[in-house]
Amino acid sequence: MIKKIFQPISNHQITLRERLLRLMTVISLVAAVIFVIVSLVIGGNGYSIAVISAFTLLLLGISLVSIHTGHIAIGVNLISFLMVFIMIPAIFVTSGGMYGGAPFWILFCMVFVSLNLLGKNRVAYLIAGMLITIICYVVGYVRPDLLMQRTLNAAYVDSLTSLILVGTMIVSMLIFQNRIYLSETKVAEKQRQEIEELNKSQNRFFSSMSHEIRTPINTIIGLNEMILREDISDEVAKDARTIQGAGKMLLALINDILDMSKIQSGKMDIVPITYETGELLSDVVSMVWGRAMDKGLAFHVDVDKTLPKQLHGDEVRIKQILINILNNAVKYTKEGSITLSVQFERKENYRALVTFSVTDTGIGIKKENIPYLFDAFKRVDQEKNSKIEGTGLGLSIVKQLVDLMEGEISVNSIYTKGSTFTVSLMQEIASDATVGELNLGSASENRVRDKYVPSFTAPMANVLVVDDNKSNLLVAQKLLRDTQVSIDTAMSGREALNMTLNRQYHAILMDHLMPEMDGIECLHAIRNQTGGLNISTPVIILTANAGSENQALYRREGFDGYLLKPVSGVSLEAEILRILPADIVNRTKRTEDPGTESESLFRDFTRKFPVLITTDSVCDLPASYAKEEHLAIIPYRVYTENGLFLDGEEIETDGILYHLVDKNRGARSLAPSPSDYEQFFASQLTKAQHIIHISMAKNVSDGYKNALDAAKSFDNVSVVDSGHVSSGVGLAVIRALEMAKDERAVPEILNTLEDLQDDIRTSFILGTTEYLTEAGRLSSRVDTISRLFLLRPVISLKNSTLRTAGIRFGTQTRCWKKYIASQLRNPARIDRTYLFITYAGLSQDDLDMIKRQVLDHVYFQNVILQKASAPITVNCGPGSFGIIYKRKPIEKNDDYYEEKNDWIF
Ligand code: ADP
Repeated sequence: MIKKIFQPISNHQITLRERLLRLMTVISLVAAVIFVIVSLVIGGNGYSIAVISAFTLLLLGISLVSIHTGHIAIGVNLISFLMVFIMIPAIFVTSGGMYGGAPFWILFCMVFVSLNLLGKNRVAYLIAGMLITIICYVVGYVRPDLLMQRTLNAAYVDSLTSLILVGTMIVSMLIFQNRIYLSETKVAEKQRQEIEELNKSQNRFFSSMSHEIRTPINTIIGLNEMILREDISDEVAKDARTIQGAGKMLLALINDILDMSKIQSGKMDIVPITYETGELLSDVVSMVWGRAMDKGLAFHVDVDKTLPKQLHGDEVRIKQILINILNNAVKYTKEGSITLSVQFERKENYRALVTFSVTDTGIGIKKENIPYLFDAFKRVDQEKNSKIEGTGLGLSIVKQLVDLMEGEISVNSIYTKGSTFTVSLMQEIASDATVGELNLGSASENRVRDKYVPSFTAPMANVLVVDDNKSNLLVAQKLLRDTQVSIDTAMSGREALNMTLNRQYHAILMDHLMPEMDGIECLHAIRNQTGGLNISTPVIILTANAGSENQALYRREGFDGYLLKPVSGVSLEAEILRILPADIVNRTKRTEDPGTESESLFRDFTRKFPVLITTDSVCDLPASYAKEEHLAIIPYRVYTENGLFLDGEEIETDGILYHLVDKNRGARSLAPSPSDYEQFFASQLTKAQHIIHISMAKNVSDGYKNALDAAKSFDNVSVVDSGHVSSGVGLAVIRALEMAKDERAVPEILNTLEDLQDDIRTSFILGTTEYLTEAGRLSSRVDTISRLFLLRPVISLKNSTLRTAGIRFGTQTRCWKKYIASQLRNPARIDRTYLFITYAGLSQDDLDMIKRQVLDHVYFQNVILQKASAPITVNCGPGSFGIIYKRKPIEKNDDYYEEKNDWIF
């Protein structure tokens, strides 16, 4: 029987409460038997033997019945009741009051109650137990004659056996609890892993399903487009258009299901880029306009003229949201009009609230249905909508996308009269220019719907298409037929590599998933092919793998463009046209028809900067300049007493000064880690073909080393050591930005930056040496001497290393004057375009004085008073400033102005 009770204790299927009850029963039984035997052997008190035995039997009975009937809670309550109200007083009276084992058994009862009962019951029984114990003790004290008398010997023995037994029982219960806790944690962890694995396989399933279905749809839609281009009868044309509609519907459905699964598994990422607002709206309108026209609906567009020309946000998802809502408006409106209006409200810090609203004069939505509108697979007002195609997924996806972008969506509807869907999104302003008057309607109105004309012809052009699926090759060939481009096809990576050895192509279209050698491997093989004729030919991935993470992958791998299957003739032509040399292309006069199927993906590639300059937050440049020039900055971390902050984003220089002055200088700066850099580069590569990252002097911080580590994961990230700090890095960045703007080649920019290292002069005069010493950049000997004699050190950068370049002695004004004079002592060699006065913790009066003195020596076109970033401030401390400028380049071997240490007092 004991075995039967004991075995299930480790069974996870059984509730914790039941297992604990079983354990208690077993150990109580064992303890009681031992107690009785010991008591009998040493001639113990018959009454207490009887009480313990009776109680143990009762406990056993109740446990068995409650386990058998499944009423564990009742059983536990009953046992607790017996313990508190019967066992405590009975044991106290029979075993000699406090002079025996009673106090230990009382303790046991209380532990049992607290481990087995829950909530209010537990509190009530514990209070009752306490009260009964107090009563027992008071009675025992006032009327000891009411308690059974024991000899001192018996009391000793009873106390000892009770202590050992109760102690063992309590310890066993606690060990059991602990084991249960550990094994439950293990089970929970295992379950978490299983769920994660399930999620992963679900995602794999959805993405492979999407891939598999897209491939045949590519053939259906592509070849159907060819039929539509032919001179066919009205009836055949009507059928072909129906096939086209059904194909697109199927595609939309797959996209919705894929999006839904991504959102649910938390894999849907918002990928912000800088986009043209006019382009976004014209794409959206052109996709819906035709459908509205077909139904005889008027389409009005009303865009706020002050809307900025460029915003920064997830363009792809905003389009998806608007197209979904607009499509619904067209779907659920029989007559009348659809209006898209865009309002704009400027907020602080270059942010703006953009409000899109779509109003229709359709069937409207009943008030009671509005709360369910955004539920997945929920279609409201079914009987009325039964003839309208839909899955009920669209609005649910829209809502979740809006939530991901931290925006808001609301619906206002009058049943039978119409609805207004309003979406508000916060976006960053990327340009101060406004869109002005947009004419979105007319472009779409002129759509050429019937006769197909290619957008260009290029009989001299050669294109290679690589795909393991014959139908896909056929589709690409046919869709490009009218452009007269000469097309070769290859059905495997190997075959493609043979062809690239023999013929030079203007463009290569490459499938991704192919057996043996996939598209990515094939691309790398073409790029490194010995004797290959296509080492630098643009290669475009033409794949059924949708999703922004795949786009990012292709970008990283070095593809020059991205087309998603099913591909339309328009997208394919546009992509080839973008790549072909202008001199072999004859553009036709075809009116632009982006078509419903144009997914505009190629734009993301074309809009990328050829070279993007990035840097660390220690580069002290005016924030407005950095913003204007699209300079991407990765923040350094700053440790303070109150925790870790990101430089510039979470803590500014003033915050650092507060820590330095008032908080015992508890601040430290730290470079981003290699993985921080990796993430930063990956996100910036969505905007550019190549990144040049300019970092702080390599011997001053780990930034350079970490960035270099991270750059190894990418083919197109170069890391440059500026050799300087603060605005010295800034000057290198300014030069690089100018060159990037002029579209100079990467190696040329890199060479210029290397030469620039020697020409930039970065120096600071410090208020005191203590901060630099504390940051480990100065020896404590120099610090002690400086402090003793009120000296102000001058530090400068040479060969990427921070060094003490001199020491100034005397009043603050005298020191500053001498410092400025020595830094600017050879005006003929100074490039006067920019001078930075970069400071930490100085008053406006001080700054005015410094500026006057600088200009007394040398006139600069731009004198920039720049607050030092937090990491610079941490090292220099308040009351410091630097004069930073560039020298005119000198001929090699001219060491006339070789820097000398400046130990002038
Ligand atoms: P569906 O695929 O059914 O269109 P959605 O999630 O896009 O799914 O929309 C959910 C439901 O909301 C629709 O079935 C429809 O009843 C209602 N609905 C959405 N937009 C409108 C609208 N503009 N006018 C009237 N009803 C609408």
